[in-house]
Amino acid sequence: MKPFTWLAPDTTAGAVAMLREYAPDARAIAGGQSLLLALKDRSARPTHLVSLSGIDELAGLRTADDGSLVVGAATTYAMLARASLPGWHGVLAEVAGDLADRPVRNRGTIGGALCTADPRYDMPAFAIGVGARLQVRGASGDRVVAAEGFAADAGVTTLGPDEILTAVVLPPLGTWDAVAFEKFRHRVFDAAIVSVTCALRGGRDGTAAEARLTVGGATPVPVTVAGAAALLAGGASAAEVGTRAADEVLPGGTAGGEAVRYRHELIRSLVRRAVDRALSDVRTV
Ligand SMILES: Cc1cc2nc3c(=O)[nH]c(=O)nc-3n(C[C@H](O)[C@H](O)[C@H](O)COP(=O)(O)OP(=O)(O)OC[C@H]3O[C@@H](n4cnc5c(N)ncnc54)[C@H](O)[C@@H]3O)c2cc1C
Repeated sequence: MKPFTWLAPDTTAGAVAMLREYAPDARAIAGGQSLLLALKDRSARPTHLVSLSGIDELAGLRTADDGSLVVGAATTYAMLARASLPGWHGVLAEVAGDLADRPVRNRGTIGGALCTADPRYDMPAFAIGVGARLQVRGASGDRVVAAEGFAADAGVTTLGPDEILTAVVLPPLGTWDAVAFEKFRHRVFDAAIVSVTCALRGGRDGTAAEARLTVGGATPVPVTVAGAAALLAGGASAAEVGTRAADEVLPGGTAGGEAVRYRHELIRSLVRRAVDRALSDVRTV
């Protein structure tokens, strides 16, 4: 690990000013669960680390006037897992409580996961899956972006060098009637080989009137599969939707090499499972 200077601002504005002052060699650090590994293998060599963990305004959850759930970027998984959230917002707490291990959950943050842009991580895929928006603050002001598109590639976000992700905003409860998240995990690492988020608005007969399906882990950034979601909203079976989703994410997957066929099959079965679960939740709403 190369030597660095540790900076500990207590406001977001202070953190942004420090990132700007030492750009391009400064990096924000939240829980350090990804960045410390990068420092150790020297794939990251910042001269200044700007800690976000002492900035109270970046941590915690609140419900906005329009019913959106605003989650501070420096909120840890452990805080999320403990939160008592109504309706499908509660799936956020379930996902946070079911990833990694206790030490990682105690330090790792939702914002750190999104900014790492690792396609195997759960939170980026979940945020895209429910149509979340992200609040960003930088030296030139604030902006709000869709979670979808925030990662430009694996490990690459659209954040500028003096920008901080300040919050992840889940849409109001009424946006979806049911949300189901499924993943098949790496045995030692716990992150996803494939994850699937299925968000539904139900029709009167317990079918999906509107659907959004997102697949993480199989491509450099999580992808929404519009064709499969349209099939679902058109009344197709979960098995048909699963096959269509797998073909959309990995075209020609059944004819590919062993690793591709394996992922194709995982997508098929996880989509089927997530759709079945979300539909059964819709029927009980
Ligand atoms: C053993 C282990 C098991 C794991 N298992 C899982 C798993 O099952 N599922 C899963 O999803 N993940 C898993 N992870 C990954 C984990 O989710 C991430 O390491 C963690 O969320 C990163 O958050 P952090 O706060 O520690 O980020 P940091 O390591 O502090 O930062 C990561 C990156 O994000 C940037 N950054 C952080 N916060 C901000 C911000 N607010 N604004 C701008 N930039 C920011 C940093 O500059 C850095 O580039 C695992 C990690 C470990 C070590």
